[in-house]
Amino acid sequence: MTDRAPDGSWGRYPPARHRRWALNHRSDRLPGGSNRVLPFGNGRSYGDVCLNDGGTLLLTRGLDRWIAFDPATGVLRAEAGVLLSEILAFSVPQGWFLPVTPGTQFVTLGGAVANDVHGKNHHVAGSFGEQTRAFELYRSDGSRIVCGPEENGDWFRATIGGLGLTGLIAWVEIRLRRIANPWMVAENRRFANLDDFFALNDDYETRYPYIVSWIDCAAAGKGLGRGIYMAGMHAPPGAPTAPPPARRSLTVPFALPISLVNRWSVRAFNRLYYHLPRPARALTPYQPFFYPLDNLLEWNRLYGQRGFLQYQCVIPPEAARDALREILNRIASSGQGSMLAVLKRFGARTSGGLLSFPRPGVTLALDFPHLGQKTLDLLSRLDEVTRQAGGAVYPAKDARMSGEHFRCYFPQWSTFAKFIDPNFSSSFWRRVTAD
Ligand SMILES: Cc1cc2nc3c(=O)[nH]c(=O)nc-3n(C[C@H](O)[C@H](O)[C@H](O)COP(=O)(O)OP(=O)(O)OC[C@H]3O[C@@H](n4cnc5c(N)ncnc54)[C@H](O)[C@@H]3O)c2cc1C
Repeated sequence: MTDRAPDGSWGRYPPARHRRWALNHRSDRLPGGSNRVLPFGNGRSYGDVCLNDGGTLLLTRGLDRWIAFDPATGVLRAEAGVLLSEILAFSVPQGWFLPVTPGTQFVTLGGAVANDVHGKNHHVAGSFGEQTRAFELYRSDGSRIVCGPEENGDWFRATIGGLGLTGLIAWVEIRLRRIANPWMVAENRRFANLDDFFALNDDYETRYPYIVSWIDCAAAGKGLGRGIYMAGMHAPPGAPTAPPPARRSLTVPFALPISLVNRWSVRAFNRLYYHLPRPARALTPYQPFFYPLDNLLEWNRLYGQRGFLQYQCVIPPEAARDALREILNRIASSGQGSMLAVLKRFGARTSGGLLSFPRPGVTLALDFPHLGQKTLDLLSRLDEVTRQAGGAVYPAKDARMSGEHFRCYFPQWSTFAKFIDPNFSSSFWRRVTAD
């Protein structure tokens, strides 16, 4: 073990100090004694669900073995530290794709289960947990529990979205989906306001398996809620057979002393991005369609040394229009804001995890440079709206919601708490159960 934490979480906030315990095989033992431990995947959570300040992180990237793959059915079993990008590199050339993927491919299988992540196809495929067939849970008392929807189902439901607290996920089994080639058919449509978004969505979500919108969160007045609607489907057979051109990535080399994301750059970027000419319909490789941000590695460093906070909420369908309007108004008038504001309607599906975030409604996600108390105050004002509308905030993106709000957003938290491994803990869990 060493004293240095991995790079921390993606938002670079809050700071934390850890001991580390590296795992290199699914049969490796966990640290003994009364160590307070937490599994760490690839640190792509924005806040503190992957932090354990003062405790030990179980580093899982060494759990990187393939265990089984059936090329006839697409059923894949792999150790929990395998990245989704590694699965894609292996499976796409063989005509298989992930059943659900978040907006970055640099997450581990274990992290995808533990946050029950969602993607652009929630309305047709649900969240990652819904597509998980089985996993093995390794507890600090040495027991190993193989879990699936029907086998040890209560452990399965506690661990999906269970924030790494029920034990170490050693391996995961999912079923990949068939694709004809690595290309996507993508459509882009500009919308002028929130009402336009809802009208477009009613149409597109019946025709496309992947939908998402970028929204200009700096626009106010009659442009409030304007944005770009993006829909896509895997290209049919007969589309180009050539593999897509290799993607070049750039890396932001270090955290800048101050954030490049500020009131002026946000406003200028949003205006430019909204008006940028783009094809109404085009063939595009799957990488830029699903992972536009992965081209700029370590882009979180653009937010400077203080880091940034993300706010992702979901608002139930009946309250969505009014609540989103209020949230966008509060953001626009604060002068703080985001270049990366994403809006999407979840399908009417209930996720299987006791603490799963996805639920029927509209989800909005935005980044905010951390400007100290005024950013925290703004996010508390957004919480007022989310709570009143009967919504919830996503733990994977959170570093500051109050315990009272958490318990209201996730009423099954006390049932979940019975499944927590006595030696496991996290900065997030201590925070939301402290008051
Ligand atoms: C650019 C970007 C885009 C994103 N887009 C989306 C999106 O569209 N949808 C979405 O849902 N999320 C999205 N996310 C968030 C990300 O998908 C989740 O935070 C994901 O869980 C991170 O996985 P990780 O492997 O990095 O895990 P970490 O962040 O390291 O850990 C996440 C949680 O999983 C637990 N964990 C990790 N490994 C294990 C294990 N082996 N056993 C038990 N518990 C474990 C940890 O304790 C922690 O609680 C995005 C993040 C980024 C940076």
